[in-house]
Amino acid sequence: RTAASLAQDALQAVREKDGEVGAFLRLDEALSEVPSQTQGTSLLAGIPYAVKANLCVADRETTCASKILKGYRPPHTATAVVKLQEAGATLVGALNMDEFAMGSSTENSAYQITRNPWDLTRVPGGSSGGAAAAVAAGFVPFALGSDTGGSIRQPAAFCGVVGLKPTYGRVSRFGLVAFASSLDQIGPLTRTVEDAALVLQTIAGHDPLDATSANLPVPDYRAALTGEINGLRVGIPQEYFGEGVEEGVSRAVNAAIEQLKALGATVMPVSLPHTSYALAAYYILAPAEASSNLSRFDGVRYGYRADGVADLLDLYKKTRGEGFGKEVKRRILIGTYALSSGYYDAYYKRAQRVRTLIREDFLRAFADVDVLLSPTTPTMAFALGEKTDDPLTMYLNDVLTIPVNLAGLPAISVPCGLSDGLPVGLQFIGRMFDEETLLRVAHAYE
Ligand code: GLN
Repeated sequence: RTAASLAQDALQAVREKDGEVGAFLRLDEALSEVPSQTQGTSLLAGIPYAVKANLCVADRETTCASKILKGYRPPHTATAVVKLQEAGATLVGALNMDEFAMGSSTENSAYQITRNPWDLTRVPGGSSGGAAAAVAAGFVPFALGSDTGGSIRQPAAFCGVVGLKPTYGRVSRFGLVAFASSLDQIGPLTRTVEDAALVLQTIAGHDPLDATSANLPVPDYRAALTGEINGLRVGIPQEYFGEGVEEGVSRAVNAAIEQLKALGATVMPVSLPHTSYALAAYYILAPAEASSNLSRFDGVRYGYRADGVADLLDLYKKTRGEGFGKEVKRRILIGTYALSSGYYDAYYKRAQRVRTLIREDFLRAFADVDVLLSPTTPTMAFALGEKTDDPLTMYLNDVLTIPVNLAGLPAISVPCGLSDGLPVGLQFIGRMFDEETLLRVAHAYE
């Protein structure tokens, strides 16, 4: 098979079947030829893939599923995408998401909803819902998403695919439109752990264009997939199995724990005592950073511009008023409030302190165990429209993924059977920059 025919098949599948799923926002019909020197040398040569719509691709409309970026064609390509191009993979399009990655159901897209391929009446999760749905529907073997508080792992869990959030700094964020810069990380959504290892291998590494990318060697991730986890110490954070975790989810996760024991792992309970403060800290810190990052969308430099304006201030107000959706405005308001003088110490500073405590919880736990295990989400995929009127219940769906971002750790969600016919996700959390152990245990379990 040639690269062009593989990509044509992917495009054809999207044209035929994405009408009911709604995963794609942009289809790249004019495929660029695979550079001949990469063919045969890279395992990704000729493999079609797609990216979440907050990853910039030069000269291709990159909207972040927001009206305010309608028509925006960036001059640059995200480093992760450049690396995939160099490996010979073929980009076939951009995927739907919650506007600016704010949400857990992809219902906050300004353009369309995406349906869960397992049950079209349910959400695919979010914010990388298009990416998870595209992989689950079989349109592409892998996709890139971004994870600020769970946006790769939660949709992966809902759609029954693998989702990996690398350690903060493992993958360059250059060309990823920033939501909360201290939490954002790009990662793969795939069908198998081996594919996740392969994609991470390709996109990881230091990048002079991102000062927060780590200058560390990238290990051979596929070599880590030995199938051997005898003696591996797996910690079960007791706080992650509390109320709100559906019975079907805990049943599936408990079965996974038994399977790991049978493979020779030592399973022990651990405590992460500050877990219950993570969500509150996140919803101060992430909106605070977002309110700053999103100030650049002013109607002058990017995408959408309101017409009929009286003066410059009116241009800003109308453009932002018309261009941003409800959830994005809510975050900007919360963030601006939390950062304003008089409130800064009470909210932002305090949340930063909580963030440190959460990080220390993890460090303490990793003195005794090699990896942590939990459900990825408290519930299976919920119905479309079920949580759109109540932002707080929507936010609660991320309680088990958010602490990981606050601590900067790597984590992976792998499919863990079905409950009521819907996929359940199992989350493994690793030490900083120890994606190898994470991939090894996830692969042995899978
Ligand atoms: N659902 C969370 C939020 O709305 C996390 C989103 C993400 O990881 N991008 O902020």
